[in-house]
Amino acid sequence: MEAYALCWCGSGTKYKWCHHRREEQPKVDIFAVDAQMRSLAEKGYCSHPAASASTCTKISKAHTVQRRGGLAAIADEGHVLTVKPTMKGMIESEGAPGPRRIGVGQASVFPGFCSAHDTELFGPVEGKDVDLTATTASLLGFRAIAYERFAKALQLETLTIQRQMDSGHSFFHQRAIQRHIYAIEWGVRRGLRDAERWKADYDAALTSGDTSGLSFVAIRFDRTLPVVGCGAFHAEFDLQGKPLQRLTRGDLAFDYVAWNMTAYDGRTVVVFSSICPRGGPAVQFMESVNQLAEGRMADAMIRIAFEQSDNLFLKPGWWESLTDNERSALQGRAQSGTPSQARPMDCLVDAGTNYAKAEVAELVVDLKS
Ligand SMILES: [Zn+2]
Ligand SMILES: [Zn+2]
Repeated sequence: MEAYALCWCGSGTKYKWCHHRREEQPKVDIFAVDAQMRSLAEKGYCSHPAASASTCTKISKAHTVQRRGGLAAIADEGHVLTVKPTMKGMIESEGAPGPRRIGVGQASVFPGFCSAHDTELFGPVEGKDVDLTATTASLLGFRAIAYERFAKALQLETLTIQRQMDSGHSFFHQRAIQRHIYAIEWGVRRGLRDAERWKADYDAALTSGDTSGLSFVAIRFDRTLPVVGCGAFHAEFDLQGKPLQRLTRGDLAFDYVAWNMTAYDGRTVVVFSSICPRGGPAVQFMESVNQLAEGRMADAMIRIAFEQSDNLFLKPGWWESLTDNERSALQGRAQSGTPSQARPMDCLVDAGTNYAKAEVAELVVDLKS
């Protein structure tokens, strides 16, 4: 390849400074890469709509799931399980690591708000209990989306680091790694662009206090379910297996659903919300949640959590109590929806599993259909 042409790998850098003689360069130290990625994750900024140098204070380690009541409700001896793998775990388990233990103080943190805005904004959803209203649904949804944007931006930065991982390997190997990263990168870029669009909608609703465009379903169970988490996802299939939208390449805007699953006062609360077109895919998704038989809702919440997010935390004792088959079925969902594994249409359909049992204590539905 000509030295000053753009490199074949798609990095946008000239060949001479990119893959030229990479097979002769030293191999990358995995632990150094892990450390580099962790320090990236600690670099924060404030996601409040009114964030500015004059209004923001120090960036805090905000929790995506509140620590007291939420994470604490599922912890065993101060620990929960996370399904997010480390680079080391990926390599040691040949790409299929199981959930790992972390302390509740480290679980679900992200440096996405300054402490002043964090306290001011999330007061209504940080108490011992919560009212299930459009206001609290919009706050929880906003936090889920701010996290999602943060996570996507971070993922994009870590891909840059991962592009160096083929150092010291043959051209054949380099090409395989770069192709893999290229395929992921496309999805991450679109995810980031979408998350920015979604956040702009929630920013506007929070700033004006006008939640009239918000659709939501909020479920309160009569006890604690063994999973908490939050995030936002494209609604691809509903809970009866109906396709809602086909995610294609290009610039189309796709409907999304923000998801929060946490506990207040010993009872799990799950909120789905979206600011999106009337009657569209997101509204249909939430309608399909509303149509579940009440006795099957708890199980469906576990299914959705594993299928649609990796920002989820598990009660260790519960995970250990599952059968091997149940564990591998849930873990299989964590790989779903990636470039190497498209989501099956029936991914959210009830297969009669028994992950958790709980009665619905309160159900609030406000859909703009
Ligand atoms: Zn290159
Ligand atoms: Zn701030």
